[in-house]
Amino acid sequence: MEKKQFQAESKRLLELMIHSIYTNKEIFLRELLSNASDALDKLRLLSLTDHDVPTDFSIQIAVDKQSRTLTISDNGIGMTKEELESNLGTIAKSGSLDFKTANESEDLSIIGQFGVGFYSAFMVSDQVEVITRAYGASEGYRWTSSGTDGYTIEPCEKPSHGTVILLKLHPNTEEENYDDFLDSYRLKGLVKKYSDYIRYPIQMEMETQTKKEGTEDEWETTRSLQTLNSMTPLWKRDRSEVSDEEYNNFYKEKFFDFSDPLLVIRSTTEGAATYTALLFLPARLPMNYYTADYQKGLSLYSAGVLIMERCEALLPDYFGFFRGLVDSQDLSLNISREMLQQDRQLQLISKSVGKKIKRELLSLLDKDREKYETFFAQFGAQLKYGCYSHYGAHKDELRDLLLFYSSFNGKPVTLKEYHSRMKEDQKAIYYACGRSVSACASLPQTEALLEKGFEILYFTEEVDEFVIKTLAEYESVPFVNVSAGENPLEDEEEKERISKLEEEHKPLLDALTKALEGKVQKVRLSSRLKSHPICLSAEGELSIEMEKVLNAMPTDEKVSANKVLELNPEHSLFQRLLDLQKSDPESIPEYAGLLYTQAALMEGIPPEDPVAFADAVCKRI
Ligand code: ADP
Ligand code: MG
Repeated sequence: MEKKQFQAESKRLLELMIHSIYTNKEIFLRELLSNASDALDKLRLLSLTDHDVPTDFSIQIAVDKQSRTLTISDNGIGMTKEELESNLGTIAKSGSLDFKTANESEDLSIIGQFGVGFYSAFMVSDQVEVITRAYGASEGYRWTSSGTDGYTIEPCEKPSHGTVILLKLHPNTEEENYDDFLDSYRLKGLVKKYSDYIRYPIQMEMETQTKKEGTEDEWETTRSLQTLNSMTPLWKRDRSEVSDEEYNNFYKEKFFDFSDPLLVIRSTTEGAATYTALLFLPARLPMNYYTADYQKGLSLYSAGVLIMERCEALLPDYFGFFRGLVDSQDLSLNISREMLQQDRQLQLISKSVGKKIKRELLSLLDKDREKYETFFAQFGAQLKYGCYSHYGAHKDELRDLLLFYSSFNGKPVTLKEYHSRMKEDQKAIYYACGRSVSACASLPQTEALLEKGFEILYFTEEVDEFVIKTLAEYESVPFVNVSAGENPLEDEEEKERISKLEEEHKPLLDALTKALEGKVQKVRLSSRLKSHPICLSAEGELSIEMEKVLNAMPTDEKVSANKVLELNPEHSLFQRLLDLQKSDPESIPEYAGLLYTQAALMEGIPPEDPVAFADAVCKRI
């Protein structure tokens, strides 16, 4: 018989499995049972529309101590010859990403956490045989392999659909007693530990001691088929019965994550939408979150039975990073997928799930700030996008979940906290934009505000200002960019004084403005600068930060903020300019250029011609 070779990546994984020094070899059983359960799920889905499909689903475990074999059989969907070839000859899907990590780092401890799949059978076996017949097919096939040297496939007897996995266990070694996996109590324990929630009966013949009939104290050993798993879905069990560890294991196994979830939410709601939800907040944004591979949505169950693996309609898009499931008996099983997407019931559930998640996140924010910040570092951007997308349709739901850096203590704050700390004479929520907290904090425009004890939000992410523009206000308090054209602290008297000064020094200001035509709208005097001589601000809706962000996008259309160069009339630099205008008016345009470039630099705008700028500075020195 022709021996076929494994695809290269599969071979590598197989090698890892065979030579695995991993102590937790027992997880092979969980992997094979989960595959059997998947195969039953697939057939059960078929049975929803085809009533001829038999539904006596079960998984059988059997041991033969003589030949040291362990078999795991299911009456699920089975595999065709082609499926055998492609499913077991190549590493295809879900497990492969996890495998990659394990493979590259050679970190064997990762193996066995989950998702290593079928090949884990080789951790405990010399030889693996898969005898399978696809549902509806007339013939069965046997796949056999003893490891990396390849596999064979041949037709074989298989009376009905389903799959039998036959493992010829390794001989015992000093470190590992493979006979353990022939012990029915050990096997039962493993089923309980890893596979208790599998919804199909996992059965095995067990020996029990019973009293011999008609006797007082004579016992006999009887053998009977026992169902080892409790089968009740985790979310249907009594809350007090389910431990945190069980939830965590359920999550990790179902969603292929290495880490425990940050938050587990279980809720049962009755009313317009009656459902149970089990939701998990992952510890990290999945690596493939921004790719087409990532499917948002929750699994949908009807009375404990899976209808749809990922139902997007069940979860508001802005909470798309939550994983989990919803079980609702209100839904009909035969409902088609297209219909499901529009189902009113689903919309009700989605709304209610969204509210529930929000409540839980707010409570986390309240009770465990550190954890919330960990969460926000991973998923905050999602909430911010959620806030400004759809023209701000969901901004009110999300605004209190947002965190921004601030001058308060350099740590992220909520808008609510900022609002509660506002000074009596403070009329706005101030924010400064920059690459980092320190870049924001050192903007000349912040000095006067900070001196007055006003808190300033520091926007270090591109999306921040867009979010705030969408919000427009918080509890009727407007947001004001410290780099906006107006000095927010200027009173009438101050205005008068500045405008008089501007009148007085009009020739200089005009000369500067003229020299900077095309760069700034005007040059003017400012009352807001304390120790700094100049700053750049922007009038109107479009801020300097937004100009940068929008112009960085890959479109031809470029936008331009209405920039203003502000001078501090109290600063010695201003006096020097006045002197120069008298003694050397020719030099004014050059100085204007230098000042503008410096002010722009402070706002994070690089000079158009860095060499020319450097030369001009050097020349003046
Ligand atoms: P995964 O379960 O993550 O897809 P596995 O390595 O565990 O990866 O299994 C590979 C594939 O082999 C499965 O996706 C499935 O198509 C097929 N398979 C494995 N076991 C069975 C089984 N008992 N019945 C039907 N198909 C199976
Ligand atoms: Mg699997």
